[in-house]
Amino acid sequence: MLTGKKDDISELQKCYLRYASDIADLSKAERLRVGSVFVKSGNIIAFGYNGTPSGFPNSCELEKKTKPEVIHAEENCLLKCLETSSPFGADVYSTHSPCPHCAALMVQVGINKVYYLFHYFTTEGLVILTNGEVQHQKVDI
Ligand SMILES: [Zn+2]
Repeated sequence: MLTGKKDDISELQKCYLRYASDIADLSKAERLRVGSVFVKSGNIIAFGYNGTPSGFPNSCELEKKTKPEVIHAEENCLLKCLETSSPFGADVYSTHSPCPHCAALMVQVGINKVYYLFHYFTTEGLVILTNGEVQHQKVDI
């Protein structure tokens, strides 16, 4: 069973989730600050938060709407993986469940499992993960 499987979380995994929360605090977003950490073979291969591309004004909203150029935390991690290690088979530790777009990207690159602390505005991303056979688990730490 892929959905809602509740594995026991190790102290190290809780550490990754706390790290994702700390990373989220770096975001300048006003609506929602999201942090993600990608872990593969026991090593952090990428971390990221939602924000604008380098060189852009460091604000995520315009008139209370998210700017179209904002890159999500998970996307930032995937982009950082271009410089570090393939995300194939990695576990993702995030403050929030992924949006549908990021969930589709995770399916496509072969993410193993997604752990998260809170639900995103929509849970459509979780449906995409399930359909793409990527495990996911909400965690309370
Ligand atoms: Zn996203």
